[in-house]
Amino acid sequence: MTQPDSITPDFRTTAIHAGQDFDPTTGAVIPPVYFTTTFVQDGLGGFRGGYEYARGGNPTRDSLQTLLSALEGGDRAFSFASGLAGEDTLLRSILKPGDHVLMGNDVYGGTHRLVNRAHVPWGIELSTVEMMDADAVRAAIRPTTKVVWLETPSNPLMKITDIAAISEIAHAAGAVVVVDNTFASPYLQQPLSLGADVVTHSTTKYLGGHSDVLGGAVILNNDVMVGDESLAEKVAFLQFGVGAVSSPLDAWLTIRGIKTLAVRMDRHSSNAQTIAEALVGHPKVSTVFYPGLPDHPGHELAARQMKLFGGMISLRLADATAARAFAEGTKLFQLAESLGGVESLMCYPSEMTHASVRGTALEVPDNVVRLSVGIEGVDDLLGDVLQALERV
Ligand SMILES: *Cc1c(COP(=O)(O)O)cnc(C)c1O
Repeated sequence: MTQPDSITPDFRTTAIHAGQDFDPTTGAVIPPVYFTTTFVQDGLGGFRGGYEYARGGNPTRDSLQTLLSALEGGDRAFSFASGLAGEDTLLRSILKPGDHVLMGNDVYGGTHRLVNRAHVPWGIELSTVEMMDADAVRAAIRPTTKVVWLETPSNPLMKITDIAAISEIAHAAGAVVVVDNTFASPYLQQPLSLGADVVTHSTTKYLGGHSDVLGGAVILNNDVMVGDESLAEKVAFLQFGVGAVSSPLDAWLTIRGIKTLAVRMDRHSSNAQTIAEALVGHPKVSTVFYPGLPDHPGHELAARQMKLFGGMISLRLADATAARAFAEGTKLFQLAESLGGVESLMCYPSEMTHASVRGTALEVPDNVVRLSVGIEGVDDLLGDVLQALERV
């Protein structure tokens, strides 16, 4: 596998040290959390370290932003109160009425809902396409397409999109390519190095990693332009001008989570691989969706594009009754929305994460369940899944 490790000499070192200099005043190894909304000026306009008011900047948030840009190999990162707050700020920095957004047909339901219900009423056009099909993407691009938005692996069907190929098509049409890298995390996949313009994250998931802090991020290089304006500058302005920013404590918790991202992702991936392999051919499971399986349609591409295959698995069962019984039948896998924490979670997308896209192109079949495989002992996890299948 050819992970572009050249971006960050060793990701595991960067994840612990980037933006994490010790406190110069006291020598504290862990920089303090800056709980302050405002900063004293040494005379009018005399800002220490450039800080003036916390909506515009706070040292703890800056420390997280430095870390995030290092992890994704981008010039700038912006952190937000949630993944969707970041997405909204990004999209409003690019789009004007009449512009078109082309999205993968199984992006995160909330992303589709955001554009469909908050941006379309203001004159944005939205359509979806199968991102695995390059010809279909070419055909779906319009003269007004300004954003091509994709997610790989996708949620919940674990489809793999060729980031480099789609970026080439989108760039030929002058569109900005956004990759939601939440499922993979930058340890497994670095979209900017593959040709994407912008990476977004729900840091609520793998980056935070402990299901205890909501957050979002937008990461990009300085040379991404919207018309003749720098997109990074536009996002910086709206982050400050709207203020959907992460709080100091949220930023600090996210930094704390990121320090163990690499070891967690290694374990998430190996646990998921073991469980996926064990379920292939199980009489109660008709399809295992996991890119680490050799007969997954995106396996070869995932092996090129990702370092490991991640911790998310989806399963197709016989019907909705079976899927519901399985989703309610596990004990260690707790029935809850979200993913990417150290603890394993079970999701029934059609009534949980994807309820908001029922009746749209993004509708998820009602016989599919999604597992966020945690880092517990793999035998315990597998035993739990097998006993729940037994009772279906
Ligand atoms: C959760 C999630 C989001 C939204 O992030 P929030 O932090 O919940 O606002 C976006 N994309 C993906 C892939 C997600 O899983």
